[in-house]
Amino acid sequence: MLELRPICENCAKPLPPHSGEAMICSYECTFCAACVESVLGNVCPNCGGGFVPRPFRPSTAWRPATSSSDDPPTQTRKHKPVDAKEHAAFSAPIRKMRPIDR
Ligand SMILES: [Zn+2]
Ligand SMILES: [Zn+2]
Repeated sequence: MLELRPICENCAKPLPPHSGEAMICSYECTFCAACVESVLGNVCPNCGGGFVPRPFRPSTAWRPATSSSDDPPTQTRKHKPVDAKEHAAFSAPIRKMRPIDR
C-alpha cells in the first residue's frame, strides 16, 4: 500500500494526501511537482526512474475499510535534499531516455 509520505524529499514542502503536487517513482520516492520539473529533470535521484502523479486515497470509505481514515498517511518524514551538482552528473545520461526505456 502507498505510504502517502508527508513531504517532498528534496525541499520538504508539505504534501498532504490530497495534494495535487505529489509525484512518486516506482519505489515511492516522493517529491513535489516543482522539484521533479526544475531540480530532478524527471530522474529520481535514488533509482533513476521517472515520476507519475501520486493517486489520491479516497476520504470516503466507498468500500469497507478503504479510505484515508482506515489507512492514514505515514508520519515518517523522509527529507534528503538533492546535491544539485551530483544529480546533474548522475541524471545527464538518464534524462535523455524515456522512463519506459531506462
Ligand atoms: Zn520539492
Ligand atoms: Zn526512485
